[in-house]
Amino acid sequence: QTENEYDLIGKNEVLPLYKPREKFAHKGSYGHSLIIGGSRGKIGAVHLAARGCLRVGSGLVTTYVPKCGLTPLQSNLPEAMVINDSDEYYISKIEFDITPKAIAIGVGLGKEKTTIRAFTNFLKANDLPLVVDADALNILSENKTLLKLLPKESVLTPHPKELERLIGTWKDDFEKLKKAKAFSKKYDCVLVIKGAHTITIYEGRGYINSTGNPGMATAGSGDVLTGIITGLIAQGYPSLNAAVFGVYLHGRAGDIAIEETGYQALIASAIADTVGKAYIDLF
Ligand code: AMP
Ligand code: MG
Repeated sequence: QTENEYDLIGKNEVLPLYKPREKFAHKGSYGHSLIIGGSRGKIGAVHLAARGCLRVGSGLVTTYVPKCGLTPLQSNLPEAMVINDSDEYYISKIEFDITPKAIAIGVGLGKEKTTIRAFTNFLKANDLPLVVDADALNILSENKTLLKLLPKESVLTPHPKELERLIGTWKDDFEKLKKAKAFSKKYDCVLVIKGAHTITIYEGRGYINSTGNPGMATAGSGDVLTGIITGLIAQGYPSLNAAVFGVYLHGRAGDIAIEETGYQALIASAIADTVGKAYIDLF
């Protein structure tokens, strides 16, 4: 336990991570993100992740959703492309003919048997680092042998309940962080422990975020974060930097957004749509 085992992450710490845009860039320069998720009644989660992903600067964004997701996504978020699963309401096989640079899985996913099977087969076939959230985390927690199939440097983004399912209960914060570090080491993954002060864990170190506010305790807030981290990976940020910078930008966007909405009226799409101001605020 050394005094610098944890870093507090503010503007000065994320500025060196920031990758400026090149004058001669084209959308192919900034990566193609794939967001796999959604189920009947939870297509909005995929929309929010895709929206965060676009706003953080991913060159292209494709969503992979059950058929019922096609119309709402194409109508409400025309910038995102859509690939449909063969099933109307649930993801039943994960097959696509694109070559994304970053993949997120889990938002709005549900835990149907057919979806668990599809996720398992996908884990066996895929070796690109993943951003894993929501029900994909819950499926991993209920089938712990699948954890071995996670590609190295994947990013896991549990909220407190999802973390408990993943690593078990803890008696105090000290034990929680100890267990989290052991988990991150065992599966070589970046563990983003979401909360009022989100802590990102990797290689025995912790990065404590300083942005964000209680207005962000709102439906879909975490889905936006998943899209932001994915979009940063697509742009070439290493997984740890994408997680630390993404968590910072997400919180800062929330802080700027409440200047107009106040805490209570903040909704997740506004967090996504304020990411641009969070970037501008860096300089
Ligand atoms: P989820 O529960 O998956 O929707 O994720 C919630 C998101 O909102 C995470 O990024 C949390 O860090 C953030 N959040 C929730 N409550 C607070 C809070 N009280 N202060 C700051 N951020 C919060
Ligand atoms: Mg969530």
